[in-house]
Amino acid sequence: MSEMNAIVTEVRDVSPIMKIFRIRPVGWEIPEFKPGQFCALSLPASAERCAEATEEPKKLAPHKMIKRAYSIASASSSEELEFYVTLVHSGALTPRLFNLKAGDKIEIGKRFVGMFTLESIPAEQNIVLIATGTGVAPYMSMLRSDALTRKGKITVIHGAANSWDLGYSSELRLLESVTDKLTYIPTITMADKEPVEWKGETKFIQDLWAEGIVEKKIGYKPTPEDTHVFICGNPNMIDEVQALLEKDGFIKHKPKTPGQIHIEAF
Ligand SMILES: Cc1cc2nc3c(=O)[nH]c(=O)nc-3n(C[C@H](O)[C@H](O)[C@H](O)COP(=O)(O)OP(=O)(O)OC[C@H]3O[C@@H](n4cnc5c(N)ncnc54)[C@H](O)[C@@H]3O)c2cc1C
Repeated sequence: MSEMNAIVTEVRDVSPIMKIFRIRPVGWEIPEFKPGQFCALSLPASAERCAEATEEPKKLAPHKMIKRAYSIASASSSEELEFYVTLVHSGALTPRLFNLKAGDKIEIGKRFVGMFTLESIPAEQNIVLIATGTGVAPYMSMLRSDALTRKGKITVIHGAANSWDLGYSSELRLLESVTDKLTYIPTITMADKEPVEWKGETKFIQDLWAEGIVEKKIGYKPTPEDTHVFICGNPNMIDEVQALLEKDGFIKHKPKTPGQIHIEAF
C-alpha cells in the first residue's frame, strides 16, 4: 500500500449523498494548476465503507488502491484542495470517501490535469458555465480564482433535484450580488418535494435554454461569435445541451479544431 500523502481537514455534508471534502497535502506542495483541472484521489480497499453503501459488486484485495478523478473546486492559490463528491452507493471509491472524517489520511495524485479551463479563451468573450450536481466543482475553482477579472459576462446554470442538492448556492448568490458580471441560474426538477415553496426555475437546463429563458435572464442571446459554453455533469444533459448549441452554430472544442463548446463528462 502506498504511503498516504494528504490529510482530510474538513468534511461538510451538502445533502445525504453529497459532501464537500477539504484536503491538505502533507510534506509536499500543491503544484500549480489551472482552475477547471482535476486530480486523482485514492484510498486502499481496506478503508471502511460508509453505512449507506450497498454491497460491493466485487471483493478487492485489501492493499489495492482505488483511484478516481475529481475536479478541483478550490482556488488555484489555496493551500488546501476542495472536492465536491456524489455518493455512488455501489461504487468502489465514494463509499470509502464518505466514511472519512477530519484527521483521516488519503492519497492525492500529484498530476493535476485537464483541458476544461478558461485559459485559451479571450477575456472579452462571454462564458456560460452549465452543470448538474457536483459538475459545478470546476466552476467554483474558476470563480474563486480569477474568472471574475475577465471582461466578458459569466453565467452559471446549475441543475439538481432539490434546493438542498445545489451545493455552493449561497456562495454563488453572494458572488452574484457583489458583481454585475455574474448571473446565477439555479434550477430544480423536484420542486414538489420542497418544504418551503421554491420561487426559482424548475425546468431542465436544456428546456431553459431551448425556450429562451436563459437568454432573457442574462440579457443577450449567446452566439458562437461572443460566447464559450462549458458543460459538466450528467451525460444526458450534456448531450441535449450540446445538440441545442450545435443547432445554433456552436461547435465542440477539440485541440485541433477549436470550438465554443467545452465538455467534461463525469
Ligand atoms: C475528469 C473527471 C472529473 C470528475 N470529477 C468529479 C467530481 O468533481 N465529483 C464527483 O462526484 N465525481 C467526479 N467524477 C467521477 C468520479 O471519478 C467517479 O467516477 C465517481 O465518484 C464514482 O466512483 P466510484 O468508485 O464510487 O464508483 P465506480 O465503482 O467507479 O462506479 C460504479 C458505477 O456507478 C456509475 N457511476 C459513476 N458515477 C456516478 C454518478 N455520479 N451517479 C450515478 N452513477 C455513477 C459508474 O458508471 C459505474 O457503473 C469525475 C470523473 C472524471 C473523469
